[in-house]
Amino acid sequence: MGKWEKNVRTVVPYVPGEQPKRRDIIKLNTNENPYPPSPKVTEALAQMNIDGLRKYPDPAAERLVSAIASLHGLPNEQVFVGVGSDDVLAMAFLTFFNGDKPILFPDITYSFYDVWADVFRIPYECQPLDASFQIVKEDYDKENGGVVFPNPNAPTGALLPLDAVEDIIAHNQDVVVIVDEAYIDFGGITAAGLIDKYENLLVVRTFSKSRSLAGMRIGYALGSRKLIKYLSDVKYSFNSYTMNEAALVLGEAAALDRAYFEETRARIIATRERAKKEFAALGFSFADSQANFLFVTHESRPAAELFAALKEAGIYVRYFKKPRIDNYLRITIGTDEEMEELYRFLREYLLQI
Ligand code: PMP
Repeated sequence: MGKWEKNVRTVVPYVPGEQPKRRDIIKLNTNENPYPPSPKVTEALAQMNIDGLRKYPDPAAERLVSAIASLHGLPNEQVFVGVGSDDVLAMAFLTFFNGDKPILFPDITYSFYDVWADVFRIPYECQPLDASFQIVKEDYDKENGGVVFPNPNAPTGALLPLDAVEDIIAHNQDVVVIVDEAYIDFGGITAAGLIDKYENLLVVRTFSKSRSLAGMRIGYALGSRKLIKYLSDVKYSFNSYTMNEAALVLGEAAALDRAYFEETRARIIATRERAKKEFAALGFSFADSQANFLFVTHESRPAAELFAALKEAGIYVRYFKKPRIDNYLRITIGTDEEMEELYRFLREYLLQI
């Protein structure tokens, strides 16, 4: 090891789900939306002014911020945008988790939280989910430097009712509470309605799931003017031009097409509810997911084996080799046709000894 290496900021990085080059697979491993982006996005792309790319984009990302603000009936000053919600969350960790006390998040949760905590040198303490994979709200009623959790949680899909979310916020008014709502459009009530009641609440959302734009990288946060100002100050001290021109134009078009959004999310919810019946009939059990995925375990066949067999058959799902969840698979809800192929494969496979 070179002497210079002692000054390197080292971290064990987050490992995203596989993005295989093969196109002939059924891809249910990264919670993407199986439906294309809104036709309004296609139109906006066709009309995009390519000459405009000579110039830097609007650092305030105003057209996108305004479209999101109007979606939520909020002033622009209560909206922050970033390069996917990963960027928004990273900025929020850097900005708001700056104390000596540990921040709190669930033991089974989005596996980026401990990575950001490590890279920013933020102390943290994980709170165990109960045996049915639910967040225990009382666990967050203790001294801490901040709180963050997804709702619905990932990778379990379990939803915490809004009154329990508010209870956690109400018990943590001396720190910033981040509710990561990447999947809230597939079930549950957003905590966004609480941001005017709790100045310390940041609600984080994404265009990657319910708006079919994972490839465009658009995320946002809603909060009090004060929180958004603090976040913006850190962003402008890091990178002024986080949102590229295409993200501003296409993101605005996606945000404004409410009818398409409603139609596709309703389809995914309907497919998910059918999937619950199919998986139960196949001998799987799972938390009652309100997200666009199910987190399933089989009564007799190990998850690692099923994961490998599915992959071999060209069906990609996600497997986490981690304590408590190494016998589970996280399966994204695809189209009805994709899900039928999955059930067909499982029905045959599970008959084999
Ligand atoms: N939060 C949770 C809980 C997630 O599962 C994801 C998706 N990996 C994200 C945030 C980040 O999504 P994106 O950066 O695409 O908005």
